[in-house]
Amino acid sequence: MSNVKLRFAPSPTGYLHIGGLRTALYGYLYAKRLGGKYVLRIEDTDQSRLVGDATEKLIDILETTGITFDEGPVIKDGKIVEVGENGPYVQSKRLEIYKKYIDQLVESGHAYHCFCSKERLDELREIQKATGKVPKYDGKCRSLTQEEIDEKIANGESYVIRMKLPADKEFVFEDLVRGKVSFNSNDVDDQVLMKSDGFPTYHMAVVVDDHLMGITHAVRGEEWLSSTPKQLFLYEALGWEPTTFVHLPTVLNKDRKKLSKRQGDVATEDFLAKGYLKEGLINYLALVGWSPEDNQEIFDMDELIQAFDFSRVSKSGGIFDLDKLNWVNAQHIRKADIGYITDLVMPYLAKADFYVEKDRSWVEMVVDAVRGNVNVIAEIPALMKMFYVEGVELENDEAKEMIKLDHVKELLAVFKAKVNEAESIDDEFAKSVFKSVQTETGIKGKNLYMCTRVALTGCCHGPEMVEILKILGKEGIISKIDFTTNNLI
Ligand code: GLU
Repeated sequence: MSNVKLRFAPSPTGYLHIGGLRTALYGYLYAKRLGGKYVLRIEDTDQSRLVGDATEKLIDILETTGITFDEGPVIKDGKIVEVGENGPYVQSKRLEIYKKYIDQLVESGHAYHCFCSKERLDELREIQKATGKVPKYDGKCRSLTQEEIDEKIANGESYVIRMKLPADKEFVFEDLVRGKVSFNSNDVDDQVLMKSDGFPTYHMAVVVDDHLMGITHAVRGEEWLSSTPKQLFLYEALGWEPTTFVHLPTVLNKDRKKLSKRQGDVATEDFLAKGYLKEGLINYLALVGWSPEDNQEIFDMDELIQAFDFSRVSKSGGIFDLDKLNWVNAQHIRKADIGYITDLVMPYLAKADFYVEKDRSWVEMVVDAVRGNVNVIAEIPALMKMFYVEGVELENDEAKEMIKLDHVKELLAVFKAKVNEAESIDDEFAKSVFKSVQTETGIKGKNLYMCTRVALTGCCHGPEMVEILKILGKEGIISKIDFTTNNLI
């Protein structure tokens, strides 16, 4: 095993944004390709944003997508337990650890107590905005003496700890996606490291954790790019080697705007509930921002692991295109193991109004016949209906017109006779029956194929006729033909 170690460090917000899933995926692919380790860390230090069982949900959905971790929290018997030697992996359980390093930074002069009230900071920000300046702490508390600090604390004044950035310092780093990036400290805020509730901020916790957990690459969305100089400052102040940074392009909608919750569903959970396969979603998301060397578009997880590299991730935002996702998903529905697809269809099917229990191998045959015509699993039951209902329901006016054509009676009579003569409805029969009906009656083309289809299924389009015949079987075909002849013509 190489010493490469990556982490996915989500905040438990109650759902997993598909942009977050893509970050998780890229980290996973890279770690796996290099034979490294992958860590899940829950960043829950923002107590104001915590949502009920969000952490459990997050772990659960990640597991569902097939992204696995070598270290981190897992759910066992309904409870969160941790795997790995670098825990705890949930930040709210690491407060003592952060405190130690915050004290060290204050001690070494890299951080300071700040007693400014929220009102003062709000006012400061307003003034700065009004005068066209970038809002930034003005450093009022930077030069408090130890006596002043002690006195304020003794008086019970609330405070935060801020980092003490040096003036005019250049922070430069090599990002695996963006190349060389630099920031001047004059443009960076004296970031709060510890909030008044004693909780560390993200910036403090991320550096301590990445270091103590042995993380070699911090992979995250580009919205964190501007926090990198602050983190580099902390690495330096603590005497630690920084990780390699990898900032991924934002996932955008077709209008090149950030995909946000308001613009429809962005939760991984919602996509899966709609019947996208994890394989389809993962495959598609891999392509949002990354382009493989050849033109391959359909990948399974192992192929992605072999092919993926940050060097082919683009700097500009990746466009999330629902049509393309549908197409990729459809390819996976077609090629996946039929037993697996049928398992996924069953819950949807069980809810359908026509549902009755049937023999599993027959159900698989039906699912197999219709899966080529859908984008998502949820669309499959509607296409199966024709095989479940007694008789035939004409789906629309076109079907009604087709069935009323003059030749249909003769067609069905001859077709029925051929079926009656057949020993069984196998491939050979299903493939040859149309030819022999055509030879005998002279009926051909649409008049032959579509009319038979409508007579048997009520629909003008659908699965291959060969499949339909095999699924219905001898009795089924005859009963459908009898029904149509007696009731619909
Ligand atoms: N907790 C941050 C998030 O929610 C992670 C940022 C990072 O990976 O450094 O995205």
